[in-house]
Amino acid sequence: MKKIFILGSTGSIGVNTLNVLRNFSDKFAVSALTVNSNSDLLLKQINEFNPKFVVVKEEEPANKIKEHLPSGCRLLTGNDGLITAAIEAEYDIFVGALVGFAGLAPTVEAIKRGKRIALANKETLVVAGEVVNKYCAESGAQIIPVDSEHSAIFQCMVGEGINEVEKLILTASGGPFLNKDKSSFENATVDEALNHPNWEMGNKISIDSATMMNKGLEVIEAHWLFGLPTDKIEVVVHPQSIIHSMVQFIDGSIKAQMGLPDMKLPIQYALTYPERFENDFERTNLPDIGTLEFFEPNLNKFECLKLAFDALEIGGNAPCVINAANEIAVERFLNREIKFSRIPALIGSALEKIENNKSSDIDTIFDCDRETRKFVKNLN
Ligand code: NAD
Ligand code: MG
Repeated sequence: MKKIFILGSTGSIGVNTLNVLRNFSDKFAVSALTVNSNSDLLLKQINEFNPKFVVVKEEEPANKIKEHLPSGCRLLTGNDGLITAAIEAEYDIFVGALVGFAGLAPTVEAIKRGKRIALANKETLVVAGEVVNKYCAESGAQIIPVDSEHSAIFQCMVGEGINEVEKLILTASGGPFLNKDKSSFENATVDEALNHPNWEMGNKISIDSATMMNKGLEVIEAHWLFGLPTDKIEVVVHPQSIIHSMVQFIDGSIKAQMGLPDMKLPIQYALTYPERFENDFERTNLPDIGTLEFFEPNLNKFECLKLAFDALEIGGNAPCVINAANEIAVERFLNREIKFSRIPALIGSALEKIENNKSSDIDTIFDCDRETRKFVKNLN
């Protein structure tokens, strides 16, 4: 029986992870669940999955569920609670399903314990890829990507050597504004930006898909996961989201991994790798799909994608700067404080203003994140 820790169990990835685990209750048990504030859903999850540790980051919702907990279930709160749970709970696989920079600290603790990390929280690798890889090498922790593109590449690489890779081809749906003019970004509403054509996801990643910053973060994520330079990572727009990504080898052969846009499959693979378990998920019917299209991305229209490529080229803490700036810009857009079209402008200003530091030390990363957030909160 493998024990599972889910960091961010009430979000889109967290709920889908529990949907996968429900099918394999003879193979997996849940040992810890953590959430930001949704204590009502957490309580339902506790009653069904019986974890030994739960963390509710916010105090008030934590107090609400205190007296409803089954005996033997320990409740913690705050960021410290997330870290304590990652250090003290018993588990084999840590599912990183928290959104944003806040996922870094607890994930690092799981890595230091040498656990398998089923990683959806791409921000952890974007901001701290170098130091995270160093911790993995020291502890023997293995990151198995959950992000569908990286899971696809990981699956294509089974039985292959990285030296025989010519390039990685990350596919991108293009998001809700693929066929809109850049001039329409000025008045794009929150509801329009959240309305992803193929995937149902949390709000932050949905906005990232609309700006294509999501693909930019994924280029950086791929760099740290597979150890390839920027010029060997290509982005191709594929609006159907059936091919989740591809690997082109030095003999010109291209392998692709395909499936319906449903995160349950990459989540399950990260839990069962190197095995595959039979399931009853909906199957891909190619004649129903009919056409698969591919286009070059428009970097002039999707400036965030360009900024992410730039940040990876600059190196040092530049990816941490664009990540923090993006998190604040997206939050401000969701709060209707800034226009959609301002998101890349705010990130660009931060990349210009925040001093580039080449140290990959973890404390430097936390300082850089804090400084960038403060700067972008005050920009008009
Ligand atoms: P979400 O917003 O739906 O869920 C986030 C979860 O984290 C929730 O359980 C929430 O309670 C918790 N959380 C959020 N902020 C927190 C904080 N500061 N402290 C403690 N807990 C906090 O997000 P999501 O869409 O599930 O995405 C999670 C991660 O997975 C992101 O990094 C995203 O980029 C990545 N990802 C998501 C998808 C998807 O289909 N949703 C696909 C690929 C990758
Ligand atoms: Mg993805």
